[in-house]
Amino acid sequence: VTPRFGVFRREGEPARVGALVEGRVVDMAAAARAGRLTGVPDAGAVFSAESLNPFMALGREAWSACLERLPELDATLALDEVEPLLPIEVADYVDFYSSRHHAENAGRIFRPDADEPLPPNWRSLPVGYHGRAGTVVPSGTPIVRPQGQLRGGGGPEHGPTRALDIELELGFVIGSPSRRGQPVGVGEALEHVFGLVLLNDWSARDIQAWETVPLGPFLGKSFATSIGAWVTPLEPLLDRRVPGEVQAPPPLDYLRTEPLVFDLGLEVSLNGATVARTNARHLYWTVEQQIAHLTANGASLRTGDLLGSGTISGPEREERGCFLELSWNGAEPFELPGGGTRTYLEDGDEVVLSGEGLAEVRGVVQPAVNT
Ligand code: CA
Repeated sequence: VTPRFGVFRREGEPARVGALVEGRVVDMAAAARAGRLTGVPDAGAVFSAESLNPFMALGREAWSACLERLPELDATLALDEVEPLLPIEVADYVDFYSSRHHAENAGRIFRPDADEPLPPNWRSLPVGYHGRAGTVVPSGTPIVRPQGQLRGGGGPEHGPTRALDIELELGFVIGSPSRRGQPVGVGEALEHVFGLVLLNDWSARDIQAWETVPLGPFLGKSFATSIGAWVTPLEPLLDRRVPGEVQAPPPLDYLRTEPLVFDLGLEVSLNGATVARTNARHLYWTVEQQIAHLTANGASLRTGDLLGSGTISGPEREERGCFLELSWNGAEPFELPGGGTRTYLEDGDEVVLSGEGLAEVRGVVQPAVNT
């Protein structure tokens, strides 16, 4: 079982770092005080912090040392004894668009008359945009239906979204920072990655459709992004990688590598019933390439940066990682396993993302705030 790191609180006690091992929690702050984490510099302070950032900033050697110690430590706390908090202090949040099947389906939905569903740049670079770090929330946080400007029959209107959606994504968490002005090479990019989370990039498709030209997603995405409460370190997942799709045409030199993708089964459930099953191997661009591209202009990585992969969809209908695709933007309501059909999310709906080796991401939709 892959260990995971998070931050938790117990009633009347300060928040601190924990490790989730086989369903129980190691109190890492207590282990550090007891001198059991000798390979980790300044372990007492690092594991008494209210986020994983000080630990993540230490770099690969300290992460490996900690993983080596972990089997010797006692998991003294049951999972239901602790309240997991947001595990990282999110620095910058970047959302990519790296699944070919998702990008092609979106192209077919929004540009049905185009010969080629992918935008002209899509096979040349990992398309992305900078998102809103301050609204990243941990699993379990309720999601209030956002309001915004929508295209109405008689002109723009303001009101609650009628097309609230999810996006099933992998989130890569940056540990070691990079230096501004110095691009990170594709071959060294993984050295900066601390770990992985599942990520639900909640989206209001009608707000997004109206606002998105010409600068890209804005308020249709920025109201909430949910991540798992426990971060899975990269190291134990490296042997889950398999060759990815052959990239044709070959990308430019700074992006060129043998693409390896994570073979991790993923699921979306709605009110307890599975509505999509896919796999992280359906990503075309790898996190190494995303990092190399993100830093190619000299922009730097910070500890706590969160890189969303983009919605992960496979080739089959049941492998689509968002309701936009599952319902073809509302035109083809999809069947729910328990009966009935659905296009977009309704108030009271609960969505759970789950994946092999990764903590689940849960969220309930609450009605729009009365204004
Ligand atoms: Ca997204």
